[in-house]
Amino acid sequence: MDIILENISLLAGENLDYIDNGHMVIKNDKIETVGIGKCKNKLNKNTFEGRGILVIPGFINAHTHIGDSIGKDIGVDSAFESRIHPVHGIKNKILKRTERRHLVNFMKSSIISMMKKGIVVMADFREGGMYGIEQITEAISGLSIKCIILGRPEHYFDISRDFDKNPKIPPDVIKSIHSILDISDGLGISGANENTDNSLNEYRKIIQEISLKKKCLLGIHSSESPETEKKSINATGKSEVQRIITKLVPNFVVHLTNASDVDIKLVAKKKIGVVICPRANATLGVGIPKISKMLNFGCLIAIGTDNVMINSPDMFRELDFIWKITRTLEDGAISAREILKMATVNGGKILGINSGSLKAGMSADMIFIDKTNLDISPMHDPHVSILHRASANSIINVMINGKFVDEDEFSCM
Ligand SMILES: [Zn+2]
Repeated sequence: MDIILENISLLAGENLDYIDNGHMVIKNDKIETVGIGKCKNKLNKNTFEGRGILVIPGFINAHTHIGDSIGKDIGVDSAFESRIHPVHGIKNKILKRTERRHLVNFMKSSIISMMKKGIVVMADFREGGMYGIEQITEAISGLSIKCIILGRPEHYFDISRDFDKNPKIPPDVIKSIHSILDISDGLGISGANENTDNSLNEYRKIIQEISLKKKCLLGIHSSESPETEKKSINATGKSEVQRIITKLVPNFVVHLTNASDVDIKLVAKKKIGVVICPRANATLGVGIPKISKMLNFGCLIAIGTDNVMINSPDMFRELDFIWKITRTLEDGAISAREILKMATVNGGKILGINSGSLKAGMSADMIFIDKTNLDISPMHDPHVSILHRASANSIINVMINGKFVDEDEFSCM
């Protein structure tokens, strides 16, 4: 049976245009039509009255590491590398010493928390090889969130030590990468500093080969801190972006917080997506991404909340933070609408999925916001209201694949 939402307000299409009184028809898991005024053809359709409701696209959290959900705020005053380095960071020690069922339970809590805050898609960089992917697969079971799993082998070079000899990835690790790609959606590589030129090349070739058979994404961290950027220049004579662009050619890079203008322009020119994580960067004290500049240079930008250990997986907070820092720190303020696109439309484009906007043919993934909520009413500017007034409290319901997210779904905890 089709569903008609009548008398709703909504942010329509890829431009998130505000319609004060409109309708939407949902057929199975997809949006069939979106329009102004009442729906003309109501035959054989369930009609829902939507007065007082603003429908917006579901949020796409384009970069998470939910595997460290058990380590919330541990080592908050430690330095960047000692917290999250994939080999010798506190995070890695905690994960290695914790029982699997505890890790999985806390991962599940993070996912439920995200769904309650309107996140319908998450793209997770999953450490731990095959074992790590099995954990997240267990954590998402029974939950309707769409989870894009980007795995990686447990193998890291150190560019300061290995650059000159330029070793390749050992054959057993190559084999494990193929096994990872059999059960994941692609690879989420740690960074250029954990790779030689040869290993970056090999990752690219493997992804190109697999992409001939199935959709496969390639993402990598880049230019997160001044230290990682300095390490790259000292060891290789090149920036992280320069090495990534020439050797790896990923679908998207995460951060670019400390990238030079030249590097940001290069990423824009090569049409590589950028996923920014400003609150996680701020928590670690590594800087704030130059978001206005990235936009001016033509980058396609999405937003991620990064490690649960260092930041809450809350896109409302991310939007609020971005809106305010760009108005304060950068020359050109970014419109609320552009920022909201980063949390919805742009995330869908970078991840290559049929989600992120309310238009015909898209997956019916959306958030129902109560316009009469105490924090929001009266809503004079919908885009701005969502950015810095809305929260989980103002959500009436969330829909994923045409189905309302049910509280029963969360009883699997
Ligand atoms: Zn990350």
